Amino acid sequence: METDGTPAWVAFDRTHLWHPYTSMQAPGPVYPVVAASGVHLELSDGRKLIDGMSSWWSALHGYRHPRLDRAVAGQLEKMAHVMFGGLTHEPAVRLGQSLIHLSPPPLQRVFLCDSGSVAVEVAIKMALQYFHAIGQPERRRLVSLRGAYHGDTTGCMAVCDPVNGMHNLFADYLPQHLFAERPACPFHVPFDRDALAPLARLVEEHHHTVAAVIVEPIVQGTGGMNFYHPEYLVGVRALCDEFGLLLIHDEIATGFGRTGRMFATEHAGISPDIMCVGKALTGGYMTLAATLCTEAIAEGISAGPGGGALMHGPTFMGNPLACAVANENLALLADGSWRKRVADMQGQLEAELAPLRAKPGIADVRALGAIGVVERETPVDLARAHARCGELGVWLRPFGKLVYTMPPYVATTDEVSKITQAMAALAEL
Ligand SMILES: *Cc1c(COP(=O)(O)O)cnc(C)c1O
Repeated sequence: METDGTPAWVAFDRTHLWHPYTSMQAPGPVYPVVAASGVHLELSDGRKLIDGMSSWWSALHGYRHPRLDRAVAGQLEKMAHVMFGGLTHEPAVRLGQSLIHLSPPPLQRVFLCDSGSVAVEVAIKMALQYFHAIGQPERRRLVSLRGAYHGDTTGCMAVCDPVNGMHNLFADYLPQHLFAERPACPFHVPFDRDALAPLARLVEEHHHTVAAVIVEPIVQGTGGMNFYHPEYLVGVRALCDEFGLLLIHDEIATGFGRTGRMFATEHAGISPDIMCVGKALTGGYMTLAATLCTEAIAEGISAGPGGGALMHGPTFMGNPLACAVANENLALLADGSWRKRVADMQGQLEAELAPLRAKPGIADVRALGAIGVVERETPVDLARAHARCGELGVWLRPFGKLVYTMPPYVATTDEVSKITQAMAALAEL
């Protein structure tokens, strides 16, 4: 221990470990976490912070949940991992069954992936391989939305917002896709059909060379926490049907109840042809994701040239520990009690954040499901926000102008109030 309670190993972190989206010269402050349970992160100096981020949308039931812990420990006694090429196991099969059961009915085929970005890569490959297999190889491009975020690997970067995304550094290296304007039709405002016009124009003009439209349904997350209207998705589905394009829904952030429905897609009452899930799939315990598609797509690819193999196969595909904890996470959600909890949380976030609307420097306040957002007119100073979090006892990680939360569903009313108070403090920094 150093004298201020910081463990000695933190110094090595500062000089040798990269953190997400940071420079090694100015890596920004970090809190050393030594344990976590329930909604609390325990720091090395003994402080406890309420986790307002669910570790980036994932820890739905909090940390060290007894049933999730047991699921991992129980699986560990059988096997931690086996390859999925030529072998299979019950945790993976049960997970496939559950995902098909929960998803919109046409989604019947499951590819297990190791992270959200990989799930999106697989979705893109599925779409391109499908059109190749059915004799329309000229359909090689995707249509995406400005403000989109779909992950950090190369294929994903290419469908992230091309200007404001984190990835414009790589623009000349990436495949060139087509982008429609960000949906300008807020979730809670009556739908204006004109919002669909930019996408419709793009699809009408370029559909011969387009394989799929990819969207984050209802919530554009990392690209700006934009909550858009379900009718927009209905319109996207209709355009895809009219012009023979596939529709990919990236539910990696929104899946498993976060917007008040099991999948955000359900707000619109439609189904995509391909769907990606990740983040909360294991309740925040382990990295795991999945890409689901329709039988028609799977059959199309499989009847294609070269033996019809879908060309992807990660080393840790279908990891049994991750599948076991995902199964228990889905079992915890199965009683449906999250629906009331998330609805209540939306009401509380709305009510407690609403007074900020009138404050100077605040551009917007919004809540949907268990997501609360305060948008400032100017960017948040991340280092000051970080220090304030430690003082306030609440963990938040603002980005750009956004101070936001997606609490674990198990957070109590009091804990959510502490989170909204901390958001108010950061919004006024
Ligand atoms: C986080 C996220 C991804 C990427 O997932 P990783 O597990 O970080 O690779 C993709 N799409 C959306 C919508 C996300 O929120």
